[in-house]
Amino acid sequence: MGENMFAKVIVDIKHQEVNHYFDYIIPENFQVFLDRGMRVLVPFNTQTRMGYVVEITENSDDATKEIIDVIDVVPMINEETFLLIDSIMKYAPNLYSSIFSTVLPNALQMEYQKEISLINPEGIPSDLLVNFNTKGTWKLKKSDQIYYHRLKKLVQQGLVSIRTIIKQKGQIKTASYYTYNQQHNYDKIYKYPVVMDLFVNKSTYSKKELMAFGVSASQLSTLEKHEVLLQQSIEVSREIVHQFSLEDKEIKLNKEQLEAVKTVSQSLNDNQTFLLKGITGSGKTEVYLNLIEQVIKNNKQVLILVPEITLIAPMAKRLKSRFDAVAIYHSALSKGERFDQFRMIEEKKAMIVLGTRSAVFLPLEALGIIIIDEEHDASFEQSEGVFYDAKLIAQERAKYHHIPLVLGSATPSIVSMYKAMNQEYKLLELTKRPLNIKMPKISLIDMKKELESGNSSIFSNTLLEAMKQKLEKHEQIMLLFNRKGYAPFVLCRQCGDVPRCPHCDISLTYYRDKSTLKCHYCGFEKPFDDTCEVCGQKAVKEVGVGIEYVERALKNALPSARILRMDANVTTQKGSHELIWNEFMNEDADILLGTQMIAKGLDFPKVTLVGIIMADLSLKVPSYRASEQAYMLFTQVTGRSGRLLPGEAIIQGYDLDHYAIKNVLNNYEDFYKEAIYYRKLSNYLPFKQTAQILIEGKEYLKTFQQAFLLRKKLISIGYDILGPTPAMIKVIKGQFRFTLTLKSDDLNGERVFEEIKYYETKDIGIRYYPTLDYV
Ligand code: ADP
Ligand code: ZN
Repeated sequence: MGENMFAKVIVDIKHQEVNHYFDYIIPENFQVFLDRGMRVLVPFNTQTRMGYVVEITENSDDATKEIIDVIDVVPMINEETFLLIDSIMKYAPNLYSSIFSTVLPNALQMEYQKEISLINPEGIPSDLLVNFNTKGTWKLKKSDQIYYHRLKKLVQQGLVSIRTIIKQKGQIKTASYYTYNQQHNYDKIYKYPVVMDLFVNKSTYSKKELMAFGVSASQLSTLEKHEVLLQQSIEVSREIVHQFSLEDKEIKLNKEQLEAVKTVSQSLNDNQTFLLKGITGSGKTEVYLNLIEQVIKNNKQVLILVPEITLIAPMAKRLKSRFDAVAIYHSALSKGERFDQFRMIEEKKAMIVLGTRSAVFLPLEALGIIIIDEEHDASFEQSEGVFYDAKLIAQERAKYHHIPLVLGSATPSIVSMYKAMNQEYKLLELTKRPLNIKMPKISLIDMKKELESGNSSIFSNTLLEAMKQKLEKHEQIMLLFNRKGYAPFVLCRQCGDVPRCPHCDISLTYYRDKSTLKCHYCGFEKPFDDTCEVCGQKAVKEVGVGIEYVERALKNALPSARILRMDANVTTQKGSHELIWNEFMNEDADILLGTQMIAKGLDFPKVTLVGIIMADLSLKVPSYRASEQAYMLFTQVTGRSGRLLPGEAIIQGYDLDHYAIKNVLNNYEDFYKEAIYYRKLSNYLPFKQTAQILIEGKEYLKTFQQAFLLRKKLISIGYDILGPTPAMIKVIKGQFRFTLTLKSDDLNGERVFEEIKYYETKDIGIRYYPTLDYV
């Protein structure tokens, strides 16, 4: 001892300039226990800040200040989490402090408060003095930060002292309970017959219960004072309340399910990824349940992820019907609920954790299996703030724990299917439906022919007739009109052609101001022409139908129908999503018209018709993943028809020969074959990794030049670069935006990130995106 020890610390400040380690001296009293992964308080400029210790060393050239305090008793960030941080840094480089706060469970994050104590009131300016309470302390609020600098001076003068109070964000919830003291000697107890009666039947009551029986608060306190009733606080857990009731059914797995269970069971101690491909209703969930049973028998934990909060309830019902210890973790829980669920997990009271993507970071030390349901869903990718892909994180964790990862889907993502075809993943298939529910009958309606035959409405005659029939039979209808990620494009009303980029396999974006068509990946540009290149007709026009327009047309066509609309505009309020669903479930409406939001969630037994309006719209999103996402969406939406009664689905569009449309339902293999062909042709995932860099600045020319210089640099270190080209939204708040597109066999984002630093200036900001779809 006596030797100096140092800590390398990431300070919790989200700024590029402090995005590196700072060395601090470890005071002797902390040296025995301070460890990598603990959080500390450190002086930073004139402030006290929280920081994460990433390394303890014996040498430092630049440490001058001492660590002020240590927050944790044991490391908060374990070695596994450090590995996850590294992998995020490679995939989606970002500020260290941002990544740290992304991977730390929200329940564990701290709130900081400063408390000022008076030492000597004399000499303290009166505008400050008024803020202290009678005990001579002052807890600084956010609005009090303006005083901080002056208070620091008072500290130097020895007039006040400052300490940092740290509070856990969540808090343990307690409730008051009363028991009856048989040994009491209160002689007026006869005045309380109700109380005496109550405690004959039961030994403890909560305060709430007693008050419900008419015992008043003052009576309670009297009885407490005379030690008739003894009060105690009992820790209670905030239960997650569900609408559903549990079910109890005995299920015998069929041959395919047994085979799948057996295969995974044999690998419970291997780091193997399985792709469980099974049509909806083929019993994938039953396979999960059987695997979970085996894993918890071995006293190991289970992590099961679904893509959306709306899918939590149906899965929770299956899990809770079968197992006791299930914790639920997602962003819509209250702080307190999240804290309680987290403690259940930490104390191993819950061996099964069900959550959405953020649950992938939960510290589960005895992890035995990870299951990702609906693995094809893009919602497993976080696409704001710190980007990450929960599937990749899950893969890292499975590797770390040496356990299986099970990816389940009716329509696996192109990347997962490719890996399964190439033996990187093990493919398990379920091809039958145990309950023998029929798939809906699907028809494709060519809207070009409708126009030829004189119908210029957005509903085909077939769809309109089908809707009328269903309304008569009091069955329900869902209509999909998808405009997610919409960018303006043009379409020939005569032949349905949409001009595409000759280099990038995406449709060209229409810029009305300059009357040009442009590829937002590579910058290819050509003038807009209303004469169609394919059919020669003067019929090329911008596509400009909104969902409100569809709603109006629907009201005109079916005046008596009760219509609900679900899109981003009507669901901004919290809970409105559920309200619409309940209304539809209770059959207070006949038709649910919506965007891709209607594709996932509850099953509606009365829905027997699903219509897709302008299916092509989903294909024209300027993204290389548009076809894949459209196919998944169509399969999912059409599959919502006929969950109970025989159902049908009608897809309307111009380009019905497109592989993402013609293969909807049961032709996944054909869809996959074409999709993977195009991926290969254009060098996208899984063949090359891609990323995008956004360069933003106030001056058009300077920003473009800077983008160009960065491009040159990245090419010189071996990257393939497309661009600079204007971003899909060219200007935001007066900032001109350009993108560079990267393709590489091994895209080490961290390496690119290091270069980016040198090209950022006071006026030009640069950001890195690990996918092509978000700029
Ligand atoms: P998936 O997850 O593939 O959509 P589920 O596991 O939800 O399929 O199964 C669909 C329905 O069939 C559920 O009601 C489930 O209980 C039932 N089911 C699954 N497997 C069997 C089986 N082997 N025998 C009887 N019913 C089954
Ligand atoms: Zn292009």
